[in-house]
Amino acid sequence: MNGVPILLATSNPHKVNEVSAILGPLGYQVLGLDSLDRVPPEPVEDADTFEGNARLKAIGYARETGRRCLADDSGLEVDALGGQPGVHSARWAGVSGTRDQRDAANNAKLLDAMKDVLDRDRTARFVCCMCLADPDGSIVAESRGTFDGVIARAPRGAHGFGYDPLLVLPEGVTSAELAPAEKNRRSHRSEATRAIVKRIP
Ligand code: IMP
Repeated sequence: MNGVPILLATSNPHKVNEVSAILGPLGYQVLGLDSLDRVPPEPVEDADTFEGNARLKAIGYARETGRRCLADDSGLEVDALGGQPGVHSARWAGVSGTRDQRDAANNAKLLDAMKDVLDRDRTARFVCCMCLADPDGSIVAESRGTFDGVIARAPRGAHGFGYDPLLVLPEGVTSAELAPAEKNRRSHRSEATRAIVKRIP
C-alpha cells in the first residue's frame, strides 16, 4: 500500500478498513494506532459531544505522535432514550471483556431498554464526527455524518460491529446485513470521511 500516510486514531480494525476503503482510492494510506512502534496513552474522552471527543482524540494523538492525526468519535443516538447511548455507546453496558463481548452486552442492554417502545417510536441514528489535527494542536478540518434507521426487536446480520445488527435501515435490512462495500457507501463514517477529505487544505 502507498499514498500519503494519515494516522487514524483508533485500534478498531473495522474503522480502519471503513476509512481506508474511502481514502485509499483518493491517494491516502490510512494507518491505525497499531501500526505505531509505541502506541501513545489514550486521551481521556470526557467531552459530552461527539465533536468534543473527536477533537480531544485528534489533538491528543497528534501531539503525542508528532503526526497529523484523524480521529473519529461515533455512536448511536436513540430518540426514545433521549439520545442515549450517545457518547457512551462503546462502553454503555460496561468495560469488561473483549470488543465482541462488549458489543454483545451493549446490544442486549439496548434490546431490553427498548422492549416496551412502540414501532413508530424506535427511530435512531449512528453519528460520526471527525477531526483532523496537527501536532501543534491546531484543528485542520472537522466533519459530521449520520446514518438513520429504527431499532430492531432482535439482532440480524453478521457484518460490521457494534450496534450494526440492531439498526434497521429504511429498506428493512439491518446495517449488519449490508455488504461492507454498501455500508461504506452510505454510513455515517463514510459521510463524515468524504466531507472531511474535501476540507483538507
Ligand atoms: P468510539 O470508538 O468511541 O467512536 O465508539 C463508537 C461506538 O459506537 C462503537 O463501539 C459502537 O458501539 C458504536 N458505533 C459507532 N459506529 C458504529 C457502526 O458503524 N456500527 C455499529 N456501531 C457503531
